[in-house]
Amino acid sequence: MKSRIWLSSPHMGGNELKYIHEAFDTNWIAPLGPNVIGFENDLMQFLNTTKKIGALASGTAAIHLALILAGVTAGDEVICQSMTFSASANPILYQGATPVFIDSEIETWNMCPKHLEAAIEDRVANGKKPKAIIPVHLYGMPAKIDEIVAIANKYEIAVIEDAAESLGSTYKGKNCGTFGKYAALSFNGNKIITTSGGGAIVCNDEVAKKKAIFLATQARDDAPHYQHSEIGYNYRMSNIVAGIGRGQMEVLDKHIELRRGMQAFYKNIFKDVVGVTVFEEPNDDYFSNHWLSCITVDEKTAGFSREDLRLALWEDNIESRPLWKPMHLQPIFKKAPYYGGDVGENLFKNGLCLPSGSNLKTKDKGRIFNSIKSFINDN
Ligand SMILES: *Cc1c(COP(=O)(O)O)cnc(C)c1O
Repeated sequence: MKSRIWLSSPHMGGNELKYIHEAFDTNWIAPLGPNVIGFENDLMQFLNTTKKIGALASGTAAIHLALILAGVTAGDEVICQSMTFSASANPILYQGATPVFIDSEIETWNMCPKHLEAAIEDRVANGKKPKAIIPVHLYGMPAKIDEIVAIANKYEIAVIEDAAESLGSTYKGKNCGTFGKYAALSFNGNKIITTSGGGAIVCNDEVAKKKAIFLATQARDDAPHYQHSEIGYNYRMSNIVAGIGRGQMEVLDKHIELRRGMQAFYKNIFKDVVGVTVFEEPNDDYFSNHWLSCITVDEKTAGFSREDLRLALWEDNIESRPLWKPMHLQPIFKKAPYYGGDVGENLFKNGLCLPSGSNLKTKDKGRIFNSIKSFINDN
């Protein structure tokens, strides 16, 4: 049996161990320390921003802390993109708040500004203004973030950008993760760079970052003994993990180039295949890191379904996956309000994520190419 080709697997650059050794040599194993500070500075520099960044244990933790900083408490409503990974929405429930889900638009597959505004109007008419809006830059594709931020400003609602999949993506030259009042980054194992597990919160200023780090380190009041006036969390990134992050920052630009190369690879494979569309930027305002390369299959014109292709790849031990299943269709969220139509639902039905790792070898790409080509020839 040929070895498995994964959708997206960790890709180390080489210097990660150097930073970890430095931490060991100075016995800086406990949280905080030079790697955490260094990693945060690297991220600020990369995002080309004066915003303040706090390294955390996960992207999910970053979204949770952002909700707390935005003042979300029990009984509140928070607007969230429906077409996303569940980690965008779960922290809303951690706060005892209710998610209100919004459908995607077809160009970027992200939060539809029209449905967003309609939802806000309707919630306000019902007597409750949402406390925050969580748009996502799915698969690295920037959302229509200008329009979303303009609507949020009009109604004075905080935007929490879920930039977990979009490190290195830009909209009109500005980095994803720098548009919202807060943003969440992720360095989970499958992301464009990884610390094996980790995340970061992006805040507007030092005061907000300080508060986030305070909450992330058990909310200890300023006292010689252990004194607490607020609920704390253990969400800080460790100095060891941050060492991996520093090594990964050295290869981030390379990873973006390679991921974008995978998308070009699939565009070439499918260029003459009727009924298959490779997901791409709608125009030059958008620059996607193409974290995952995705296609949609129109079964009627293609003569095969997304599922037919997925199973054919699986036969060759090549992993591919349906797109995210929208949150409003998930059992856990079935009671949540939803605004929109069937854009996300159809993407889920017809869409497929293809192997996109920056570590795929020429040999792997050859296998993928042959597997897809022979499937298409047989169909
Ligand atoms: C990965 C991911 C997260 C969560 O990040 P973790 O670091 O795994 O907690 C949140 N939102 C989206 C869209 C993601 O893809």
